[in-house]
Amino acid sequence: MSAAVRPDFAVVGGGLCGRLVAWQLAGAGHRVALYDRGDADGSSSAAWVAAAMLAPLAEAAVAELLITELGVASLESWPRILAQLPEPVFFQRNGTLVVWHHADRAEAPLFERRVRANAPAGLVDGGFVSLAGTEVGDAEPALAGRFAKGWLLPNEGQLDNRQALRALAAGLAQRKVDTHWNSAVEGTAYPDARVVIDCRGLGGKPVWPTLRGIRGEVARVHAPGIALTRPVRLLHPRYPLYVAPKQDDVYVIGATEIEGEDMSPVSVRSALELLSAAFSVHPAFGEARILELNSQCRPTLPDHRPALVWDGARTLRVNGLYRHGYMIAPEVADSAARFAQTLLTGRIANADAFAQWRSEARWSSLFHLEHAEVSV
Ligand SMILES: Cc1cc2nc3c(=O)[nH]c(=O)nc-3n(C[C@H](O)[C@H](O)[C@H](O)COP(=O)(O)OP(=O)(O)OC[C@H]3O[C@@H](n4cnc5c(N)ncnc54)[C@H](O)[C@@H]3O)c2cc1C
Repeated sequence: MSAAVRPDFAVVGGGLCGRLVAWQLAGAGHRVALYDRGDADGSSSAAWVAAAMLAPLAEAAVAELLITELGVASLESWPRILAQLPEPVFFQRNGTLVVWHHADRAEAPLFERRVRANAPAGLVDGGFVSLAGTEVGDAEPALAGRFAKGWLLPNEGQLDNRQALRALAAGLAQRKVDTHWNSAVEGTAYPDARVVIDCRGLGGKPVWPTLRGIRGEVARVHAPGIALTRPVRLLHPRYPLYVAPKQDDVYVIGATEIEGEDMSPVSVRSALELLSAAFSVHPAFGEARILELNSQCRPTLPDHRPALVWDGARTLRVNGLYRHGYMIAPEVADSAARFAQTLLTGRIANADAFAQWRSEARWSSLFHLEHAEVSV
């Protein structure tokens, strides 16, 4: 794209959400520019650190129905998106296994109650399978004899976050998006474009004061020979811990959940908790090699929901994906891209037209008009 041509869309922030939005808009034939303060690998995003589990039912224990429904719909969309990207991305739909140690057995009925209360019955039926005795080992041979009970949530998935970010960057290049990596955009000094979509995650805080960070810490280890076949969640009184197997015997072990925008390195306490959790799932993790200990902050709004806020003019801000970014991003990004394209046509020019759009949108409760509601 020539520098002289004003793009239809400027996407500001090219982490997970921004990449998906820009890629979709470019795929629809628009001229798109994308700006990110970090590199094409996405190493400055929360998305870079995330475990990328796509677990709407397991997350129903801590999330409301809207998030579960966005997650279920997005889980169906991911294979279609990945199939169109120019590089392969590890994607698995082999379920989640939930287990607990005897000392934490009080957590099990709480988890089950929350899932059953928050998730639609149609998702729980056949999607939440009780395991006892040898059934745990039948489902996950590496854990035979290690846990007396568990639940298999067979419909859940996961992907490789870093492969996805790289493949999306390649997809942006393929669709001729004008990418500006290592280019920070501060405050509302947005680049020139007909419509701007602000997807800066926690970097959008200067223009969105109620946004906050929730720190998460993860370990990446190399553990040949254990051969877990799906993410394993370990119920724990403080936060859900998981061990997610990626390709080539790499495991992501996470994640802490700590209020505050602290991006400092992983604490000794958290490292001990995470690595002990993995060791308690399978003692062979004792011989694993630590590849990385990472921390990042999840961009979070007060109600823990994502939000798409139109400023009443030419800017749409998309944020608040919290701990569910990968799980819900396809639907959130699709909603953003659809709205932005309608904005470009000039059909949404005032509050009435916005209300009309909102009432007809698939995920209408995601949309807000700036200053019209105080909650976001
Ligand atoms: C430890 C951890 C584990 C997680 N695990 C999971 C999981 O298992 N499943 C799941 O679904 N989700 C998970 N998440 C959540 C997920 O990572 C986030 O919800 C998601 O990354 C949010 O996407 P985003 O695009 O809004 O923000 P980000 O991915 O953070 O991207 C924001 C981008 O904006 C850029 N930016 C910021 N400021 C500026 C600026 N001034 N100018 C230009 N660019 C800027 C950044 O460089 C970044 O690339 C996890 C998160 C963490 C931290």
